[in-house]
Amino acid sequence: MSSCCGGVPDKQRLLEVIQDNAAQIRKSFLLDGEEFFVTFSAGIALFPDHGRDFQSLIRNADLALVTAKQRGKSQIVLFDSALEKRVLRQIEITNLLHSAIPNGEIEVFYQPIMSMHLDRITSVEALIRWHHPTQGFIPPLDFIPIAEMSEMIHDLTWFVIERCFRQRSAWEEIGIHLDISINLSTKVLVSPDFLPRLSQLLTETGADPHRFAFEITESVLVDSPESTVGLLKKTKQLGFRLDLDDFGSGYSSLTYLYALPIDVVKLDRGFIKNLDRKGKGLKMMESIIRLAHGMDMLVVSEGVEDTEQLSLVKAWGSDFVQGFLFAKPMPGDQIPDFLEKNDLQLSF
Ligand code: C2E
Ligand code: MG
Ligand code: MG
Repeated sequence: MSSCCGGVPDKQRLLEVIQDNAAQIRKSFLLDGEEFFVTFSAGIALFPDHGRDFQSLIRNADLALVTAKQRGKSQIVLFDSALEKRVLRQIEITNLLHSAIPNGEIEVFYQPIMSMHLDRITSVEALIRWHHPTQGFIPPLDFIPIAEMSEMIHDLTWFVIERCFRQRSAWEEIGIHLDISINLSTKVLVSPDFLPRLSQLLTETGADPHRFAFEITESVLVDSPESTVGLLKKTKQLGFRLDLDDFGSGYSSLTYLYALPIDVVKLDRGFIKNLDRKGKGLKMMESIIRLAHGMDMLVVSEGVEDTEQLSLVKAWGSDFVQGFLFAKPMPGDQIPDFLEKNDLQLSF
């Protein structure tokens, strides 16, 4: 429901009235023995603060409603100008994204990952890059969440997967044997065509699944629980490795470590950056890594930018390190030069 109101003296009172109405509407009912739920979202715009005519009030109430729905079920959102800016940017990005792949604006960059045991680069993470002709570089975090709200995440993800499969074969031909990790949105994983399409692409490209990992986040369990674990297991049966990305950001729970069939834990950059370097913080990191090792998982430390951080993650027992200290993400055709210059990769 989007509502625009005139002459309401007290915003708080208005919210209370809407919340009362919502409580009346949010009811469950039985139909043929099955329980159904009615949800209620509202966007509110007030006269005169949010518009002086009917059309602008309706438009702004609608923008607030879009935000309410994005925040999840049953939210009530009051319009404000920051919200307007954000929603309009989302709409703009959604429109621009439609032509991004066909116009050749999307690329895949690769960031080297260093093995602490072998002292060389053994894999790379594939990271999407969008260069718009007039808007310039648009960071993934500005458009991936928006793509995830629409169907566009599917096209973007399959574009990246196919590029990675082909890129690895191209590297193989010149004697570079790197594994590639690919970020996978839950929405793509749970789509019914994920496994068949993946198998088909493996056949078409001749890619070896054992040389690829999918990076998933804890949201797989939040967004869609048990059935997802089955899907992840089937993905592993095809030969892919599974990495748990961004561990330590958000509401990480140790539960995820045993609930998900993962091989590698990637410790989040923020975790490493903000950690108290003595006492409890240090002990906690060591314990998490020991726990992961005890569960036969390997650990990647993300976002290592200086040698002090490197010594820390080494001391904790991290198996791999990824960060600007070694390399920023780069186009696939720069990887051979990078490896040669840094003498960081040997064929095996
Ligand atoms: P992520 O998967 O955790 O990727 C690591 C991010 O950390 C990358 O940012 C990388 O450039 C950045 N990073 C790595 N080392 C350092 C460091 O030492 N310092 C700093 N400051 N940053 C470092 P990027 O490329 O901007 O990607 C951001 C996020 O966007 C990714 O986080 C991932 O969640 C998402 N993303 C990127 N590409 C894709 C994709 O192809 N598909 C999906 N679904 N998500 C993607
Ligand atoms: Mg990642
Ligand atoms: Mg990460």
